Amino acid sequence: MKNPLPSLETLTVHGLGRIAEPYRDLVPPIHLATTFERAGDGSYPGGRVYSRDASPAYDQAEEVLRQLEGGAQALLFSSGMAAASAVLQALEPGVRVVASRSMYWALRKWLIDFSANWRIELVFFDNTDAVDLERQLTAAPTRLLWIETPANPTWEVTDIRAAAELAHRLGATLVVDSTVSTPVLTQPLDLGADIVMHSATKYLNGHSDVVAGALVTREVNPFWQRIRNVRALGGAVLGPFEAWLLLRGMRTLHLRVRAASASALRVAEVLTLHRDIAEVLYPGLTLHPGHRIAARQMHGGFGGMLSIRLKGGEGRAREVAARLRVFKRATSLGAVESLVEHRASVEGPGTMCPPDLLRLSIGIEPVDDLLADLEQALED
Ligand code: PLP
Repeated sequence: MKNPLPSLETLTVHGLGRIAEPYRDLVPPIHLATTFERAGDGSYPGGRVYSRDASPAYDQAEEVLRQLEGGAQALLFSSGMAAASAVLQALEPGVRVVASRSMYWALRKWLIDFSANWRIELVFFDNTDAVDLERQLTAAPTRLLWIETPANPTWEVTDIRAAAELAHRLGATLVVDSTVSTPVLTQPLDLGADIVMHSATKYLNGHSDVVAGALVTREVNPFWQRIRNVRALGGAVLGPFEAWLLLRGMRTLHLRVRAASASALRVAEVLTLHRDIAEVLYPGLTLHPGHRIAARQMHGGFGGMLSIRLKGGEGRAREVAARLRVFKRATSLGAVESLVEHRASVEGPGTMCPPDLLRLSIGIEPVDDLLADLEQALED
């Protein structure tokens, strides 16, 4: 009987399972070299020239990500923002971009500034409204559609398949920021997206100790080649140790994401019934406006991120955050430890986040510890 191919999850747990010579290491060595020897005939027998162009330190992590997303190529970047900005910098100046109105605030802010400098016509669509997406996309020829789903920090859901069909009919490229969903729950490229983007700082690494970003493309085309050039020449490259840590973190990606998703659903269900909470925002709840789409495009869970809105307003939200003990008050998301954040005050002037909202990143602690912590913090 033939050995069946191992699943993607097994490949990820094994970090691809490459054995390093000469010691037969199960864990890859860290390639620190920035430069590689050239042969007398001028060729590069090792296949590398300079690590800013393509570092062997990235190979395994990029290959794991490529396979997880089912793409043609993957690229690591020095941060999620660097990955996102490489896509925008690969555009021709003067084109039109349509993007989710609700998205990670720093990226939204950067998009607005960059578009003004690059003479890009930037238009936002309402993430909850497929009709608005169509209206904005058909209003004028559009080069790029950027969506984030579920969208941070209010977790609106956008239908990736429908967005891809629309974008392609109109000649636009679809990029999906899938940081929150992760390749464990959603494969945007399978649903028709052209490029998927991750802040690898979050779930992919998962331990609050690496800032990194990633892009995976469905096909290698001239636009992707320009993105590769932006990384190689713009130089937003990841350090070899960070790439190694990222590969190490990804080995437990499936376990962590499934545990966080199961706990987030339980926390969301319990908090929905709490008398002090006005609203729980979580795509896993059947009452969430995006639940049906989320159930179609997220498999095995709805992610570890949710937000709650407090009946007592901003003061009460900040008070509850201050009382939490297991949840750490810190920004970021997707790590093993649970985090709470009063987003409006972090985002500052111009924030679109309601002031009564607390964002919860559910970690992998036993869910009863998280529930007990929330219960004591919500006590009058
Ligand atoms: N996209 C999303 C959804 C994020 O939450 C973040 C960071 O919080 C980013 C992109 C930016 O990633 P990084 O902080 O790695 O630059």
